[in-house]
Amino acid sequence: MARVMIDRASENLRPLKERLATIKDIHSAASVLAWDRQTYMPEGGVGGRAEQLASLARTAHEMLVSPETGRLLEDAGGREPGSDDAALLRLARREHDRAVRLPARLVAETSRVTALAEVAWIQARTHSDWSKFAPHLDQILALKQEEADYLDGEHPYDAMLDRYDPGSSTERLVVMFDELKAGIVPLVSEISASLGEDRAAPLRGAFDEAAQEAFGREIISSFGYDWSRGRQDRAVHPFCINFGDPGDVRITTRFDPELLSVGLFATYHEAGHALYEQGVDPSYSRTPLAGGVSMGVHESQSRLWENLVARSRPFWSHFQPKLRKAFPGVLDGVDIETMYRAVNAVRPSEVRTEADELTYDLHVLLRFELEVGLFEGNLTVADLPEAWNTKMEEYLGIVPENDALGVLQDTHWAIGYFGYFPSYTLGNVLSVQLFETALKERPGIVPGMERGEFGDLLGWLRENVHRHGKKYEPDDLIAHSTGRPPDTAPYLRYLESKFGELYGLKPL
Ligand code: ZN
Repeated sequence: MARVMIDRASENLRPLKERLATIKDIHSAASVLAWDRQTYMPEGGVGGRAEQLASLARTAHEMLVSPETGRLLEDAGGREPGSDDAALLRLARREHDRAVRLPARLVAETSRVTALAEVAWIQARTHSDWSKFAPHLDQILALKQEEADYLDGEHPYDAMLDRYDPGSSTERLVVMFDELKAGIVPLVSEISASLGEDRAAPLRGAFDEAAQEAFGREIISSFGYDWSRGRQDRAVHPFCINFGDPGDVRITTRFDPELLSVGLFATYHEAGHALYEQGVDPSYSRTPLAGGVSMGVHESQSRLWENLVARSRPFWSHFQPKLRKAFPGVLDGVDIETMYRAVNAVRPSEVRTEADELTYDLHVLLRFELEVGLFEGNLTVADLPEAWNTKMEEYLGIVPENDALGVLQDTHWAIGYFGYFPSYTLGNVLSVQLFETALKERPGIVPGMERGEFGDLLGWLRENVHRHGKKYEPDDLIAHSTGRPPDTAPYLRYLESKFGELYGLKPL
């Protein structure tokens, strides 16, 4: 009898699942077009491609908010707590509820305004002319504030965060950033006071691009990136993209022929995102459960491979001799320790994407505080350039030479991505919490890294993070896998011990 009821219950979900699969397919098809736009599309395709993407986005949105989808969700009732179907319904209802609260006019207007703003931002940044971008940002901010009103969070900025990191809140992030600020700012100023030598010098030289590419491919193959389910191409801004299924997860990278670190770490970073997507349970494909659970957890995976693995001594003890062989004559005399110090050189700088591991979060903190100020109404768009420079001086001890290297450097605001930046720091925090737990549970991880083998580490991540896709809420996933909620303490301990040792600081 129970068997019959269960069968009937899953039978009831079939029309809903088919509908959700179609919506997912439309998004995935749009992702293929987006991948093509950023890799191989000729310049002449820009206008046509924007229309194609807008049509697909509109079609998917209309299907999601349609009364038919609403009725299917209502009729679906409840499912056994903890089951895949219960999680699927929770996610589908959340997506549907969010979408129906936003008027179609607002969605269309945001898409139109940001398309124009992105072009204006490129111009503004090229000429370092804030006035070219400010009116566009005013419009975007007004639309985003309107969106926040419709979504009705506890704090107006919460609605922005929720899109990227469900369960996150302004209140929680204020606490997290306060803890990080208290730990990192004194460490940076202590190190800055003793900056004499240029430790990153070995990374500059003439590095053949084909050799860089071959070396990067060898390393991410050893991480476990599956080339039969992915590929790597070049892009100006490297990214990882998937099409709703772990069978095709692509990455892009870029190379600087005069600066080795750019290509290497972009490759490791994107491969970290891709390993996550390739590890999601294949039965979740074409459902709301497919893919990484949040941007914070996603960044934890990319930063784990980029920093905790590829900026570590065990890693370089194995790979530095290979790197020297890959670039004969360029890295002669650069031993393991020199390389380890080079890839961990601290130097407060203007640009976030070029920041070292220690100062990176201060760039994010600055953006977080400005965004909260904008949404609380304590700050206007006109105030941003000056507020930016003041905070740069306060946290990093430098003032950008111009706005192109300051307030205009990121694309996020131009494309409407308010609330995205904190995911980067959340990712850093979570990466250490996860890695620490993995090392405790699998003592073979570090000896493996010294042999250039990463199966133990990937196995732990697959088991505890990757395979679950979006099934659990981000906080629950972290609590399941590490035994406690997200916590800054392991991250701060890691930074203090790593950089304290590298720069010979006395324990704080
Ligand atoms: Zn990333």
